[in-house]
Parts: sequence; structure tokens; C-alpha cells
Amino acid sequence: MLLKLYQAGQPILRQSAKSVTKQQLASKHVQDVIDFMIATLRDAPGVGLAAPQVGEALRIVIIEDKVKYHDQVHPPLFKEQGRKAVALKVLVNPEIEIIDQEKLYYFEGCLSVDGYTAVVPRSRQVRVTALDRTGKPISFVAHDWLARIVQHEVDHLDGQLYIDRMISTSFMTLKNYTLLWRKALTAKIKNTFS
Ligand code: ZN
Repeated sequence: MLLKLYQAGQPILRQSAKSVTKQQLASKHVQDVIDFMIATLRDAPGVGLAAPQVGEALRIVIIEDKVKYHDQVHPPLFKEQGRKAVALKVLVNPEIEIIDQEKLYYFEGCLSVDGYTAVVPRSRQVRVTALDRTGKPISFVAHDWLARIVQHEVDHLDGQLYIDRMISTSFMTLKNYTLLWRKALTAKIKNTFS
């Protein structure tokens, strides 16, 4: 089942989501929500989705970055961003710890701020701890583009959107991004917007 993608302005996107208990996680409702989130993310398509974006105030995040999404990315930018395919990850009650203070400056978008993009400084490296969908603890270090996705999605669980962290002068329509900024590398982005 595909779920409705809530857009900026809906109050749930500004609320703190609730931790998922082991009992809730085992329930049909929460397992269904996870399956429907996966279907919705793939349909969009997007690389990350947090439960509040589909109207569920639960601390659940889905991440998946497929090779086929990489075709549209300008190759030098793709290389610079350190982007790699990411197999489906379901993160329940995720916590992140920043382990590299260096900030990277790239454009990012959000399925809940449809049609726009902006430059958002994000930490290069974070440690993630969470439960998987069966309740098993997992932990990994995320670098570069994956670190960006994780930080963006965990922000959703705290009622934050990328527009709270963006460099506001870089906010633009996706149409203008494609027209004017799609091939910009970090030097130009930082020079112009930081
Ligand atoms: Zn988002």
C-alpha cells in the first residue's frame, strides 16, 4: 500500500516522534507501517523516509539508495559526494553521534518539501545505533552521502526539516536547480553560498 506523503505545514512534521517499544515493533500495525513506508519510498522514488512523513509519529526511518538513482547525478559530483548504493535499512529508534565535525555542503531535497532544494551543511561522518525491524540492535558508521541521509531522516524524528538547517539564500525550485546548479561541485557551492 502506498501512503500519503505529508507536506511541510502538516503539524506532525514538527512534532517529536515517539520511541517504538519492542512490543509495538512486533505488532502487525508497526510491521505494516514499515512495509508501506518501503513501498512509498520506492514509488516516490527517494532515498530516505521517516515515519512522521507518512503521518505516523514513531521513531522509524527507512533508507535505500539504488544504483539506478545514480544515473541522473552529474558524474564528477557523484564521485565528490562519495555516494554509494545502500541496501534497504530499517532503523528503529535511531540515535546518531557525530564523529567528524567537518561539514560538507551539498544540495538536498525532501519528499515533504516537494519541488524545492537547498544547500545544507551536514557532518561528514556519524555513528548510528538503532534496532532493525526484528528488534535486533544494529550499529554502523555512515560516511559522506549516507551520513547526510541519516542526519536528514533522524531530524524528521525530532520535528526538524532541512529548511531549518539550510543556507537560506540557496533555497530554489528543483527546476532551477536542474537548469543552473545540477553540475556544481562543492567549491562553487561553498564559494557562492557559505
Ligand atoms: Zn525529508
